[in-house]
Amino acid sequence: DLDSAAAPLPSVSKSNIGHRWSDITSYATKKKVQCWFQRPNGNWELGRVISTSGTESVISLPDGKVLKVNSDSLIPANPDILDGVDDLMQLSYLNEPSVLFNLQYRYKQDMIYTKAGPVLVAINPFKKVPLYGNDYIEAYKNKSIESPHVYAIADTAIREMTRDEVNQSIIISGESGAGKTETAKIAMQYLAVLGGGSGIEYEILKTNPILEAFGNAKTLRNDNSSRFGKLIEIHFSETGKISGAKIQTFLLEKSRVVQCAEGERSYHIFYQLCAGAPRALREKLNLKDVDEYKYLKQSNCYSITGVNDAEHFHIVKEALDIVHVSKEDQESVFAMLAAVLWLGNVSFTIIDNENHVEAVQDESLINVAKLIGCDAADLNLALSTRKMRVGSDNIVQKLTLSQAIETRDALAKSIYAGLFEWLVEQINKSLAVGKRLTGRSISILDIYGFESFDRNSFEQFCINYANERLQQHFNRHLFKLEQEEYIQDGIDWAKVDFDDNQDCLHLFEKKPLGLLSLLNEESTFPNGTDYTFANKLKQHLNSNHCFKGEREKAFSVSHFAGEVTYDTTGFLEKNRDLLHLDSIQLLSSCSCHLPKAFASNMLNQSETPVVGPLHKAGGADSQKLSVVTKFKGQLFQLMQRLESTTPHFIRCIKPNNFQSPGSYEQGLVLQQLRCCGVLEVVRISRSGYPTRMPHQKFAKRLGFLRIHEIVHCMAFYVFKAALEDTELAVTLRSFKEALPPYNHLSEEIKPGKNMLSYC
Ligand code: ADP
Ligand code: MG
Repeated sequence: DLDSAAAPLPSVSKSNIGHRWSDITSYATKKKVQCWFQRPNGNWELGRVISTSGTESVISLPDGKVLKVNSDSLIPANPDILDGVDDLMQLSYLNEPSVLFNLQYRYKQDMIYTKAGPVLVAINPFKKVPLYGNDYIEAYKNKSIESPHVYAIADTAIREMTRDEVNQSIIISGESGAGKTETAKIAMQYLAVLGGGSGIEYEILKTNPILEAFGNAKTLRNDNSSRFGKLIEIHFSETGKISGAKIQTFLLEKSRVVQCAEGERSYHIFYQLCAGAPRALREKLNLKDVDEYKYLKQSNCYSITGVNDAEHFHIVKEALDIVHVSKEDQESVFAMLAAVLWLGNVSFTIIDNENHVEAVQDESLINVAKLIGCDAADLNLALSTRKMRVGSDNIVQKLTLSQAIETRDALAKSIYAGLFEWLVEQINKSLAVGKRLTGRSISILDIYGFESFDRNSFEQFCINYANERLQQHFNRHLFKLEQEEYIQDGIDWAKVDFDDNQDCLHLFEKKPLGLLSLLNEESTFPNGTDYTFANKLKQHLNSNHCFKGEREKAFSVSHFAGEVTYDTTGFLEKNRDLLHLDSIQLLSSCSCHLPKAFASNMLNQSETPVVGPLHKAGGADSQKLSVVTKFKGQLFQLMQRLESTTPHFIRCIKPNNFQSPGSYEQGLVLQQLRCCGVLEVVRISRSGYPTRMPHQKFAKRLGFLRIHEIVHCMAFYVFKAALEDTELAVTLRSFKEALPPYNHLSEEIKPGKNMLSYC
């Protein structure tokens, strides 16, 4: 019945994502095909067309209801035979409800992975699914299973690393709680098994519990939310064995140490230490229960359902042993944690009528001093006074209550951030011992996804900026490069539009009038405030179409994933990230080696702006790097590194906001699919050519065929597609399967033209 199929017959080079019902009604009613009908609540339901008369159609819904609807409100659904295909590219109709339904169909059966062309989509099951472990790893290794999986991605990465001698990267993205960190661990597990043997793989896996204890926390969105970004580079020897690894971390959320929202927690390790420390350690560190520490008390949340903190403490200790952190160092690490907790309990008394303060000489102050190895009196001075140079005189200024609290909290944050950095350093030393990291590598990137809350601050600003950069990398690889390749090959085809986010990146990075530059400039002004910063933005950027000034000191940015309004409160302070020289001097004078190491790290890297007697009163040193400058530098370095690798993208999707298994909210999923560009990727992969093979390789594999036989095969597929009402996508595998009748023939294909132009 080719006649009636003529109208909607899909073509090779065009996608049908835009098909509306009216394009194909005559065809549809003949076949009694299915269509998508949108309920007023936004959910899509599958209907069956009973009759149609031009602009109106009568459809029946699964609950038996029959409705008369506007034909244009219907969207074509795929034939049942395509239910739950494992690659969205195989769908005849690639509209949003079809994609949503396909993912949901699979999700219901615990098939949480689906390919979207070159991208793997992973939907968080929020429960154990029987898809992992050695049997599965073995099966993916032997290729006896082909369904989409993180293992399959990791396997491809290993193969391509070996075959092409190019470093690989697995780039995992998604919202908080979507499953990035779990996915990264699953990929590491596969690499560890396939590249295992030297024993170092065991160490690599053990870095996970350590970094999660120190860098993850319970938030409202995820009980185990990573509050830092991570790139782990796993190195392989010539023989394909893991030879070492290197971890780089990005932008740990320091503020959580001193401040966290109701119902959230600080970093896991604090609770683990308090719950799991054996008696001797408790006494040595003077540890109390979690509810006796102000930093932990403020959010009114101490435990996580189903998680035993004490047990985790032992897992962390074991992991520290395995990555060669000595028992003495471990004890120092725990002492630093206790010091941070006690620091939060240090309080101040007002000593004069100018609101100047002194630290209260209580158990807290004495404990902190003891734990970091300094005099309580010196600690008091560092917390309640500041040395300054005014003109040519050095003076000592007393601090007010709010200044002292700020100084105390800054010290706590610095000790914690220093500790985190030190730990990563130790881990890296252990993972690289005696081995030169020169071979090939596979990097896994697990970095915070796009964030848009009711109130967005400096952290969201940085995170979303990073996501713009990553999105550009994704776009470049999956849209730009592919399209450029077609143009280079002189292939005639319809260009697919995608959201280029260059303008938004420009808004951030432009010099001197971009968001980052203006933030840095204002941060160096002693009198700069969040208000002056917001005003400056409005003054200089209002003409930029990605920027919008908002009421008071807020502004909005049109990100690729949507518009986000940022409240500038605290931007300057967080960007300056001041630690006064008095505090650094205190740390470097300590008798314990860890605070000393933190202090020297701070001074060497100059990453923390230092204010002290060498600087003008009140002013930060503009020579030192601000937080965004350092972050931008890290990000550029990261992009550069990723650019030199073959990327593999995994998009994690959170199906509901309650971390609950089985619930799949269409609207939520759709919003994530839209904002990460998955639909466009499928569209472009389909409208492009699924098989791209250099001529030489093609001739080597299929050179035994005559040209007319190849054309014959292609024609076979065109007919098959027309009959089945599917779009044409000839994969090499299906192509070869159709070949056997011609196998007896052989004739060299003449070089010089590519396969597509033959066809
Ligand atoms: P993200 O790193 O994206 O914020 P996580 O990887 O921490 O999210 O995942 C959040 C939670 O979701 C995990 O703690 C786990 O309970 C669950 N989860 C994620 N992926 C899986 C999976 N593949 N199987 C089972 N549970 C998962
Ligand atoms: Mg995470």
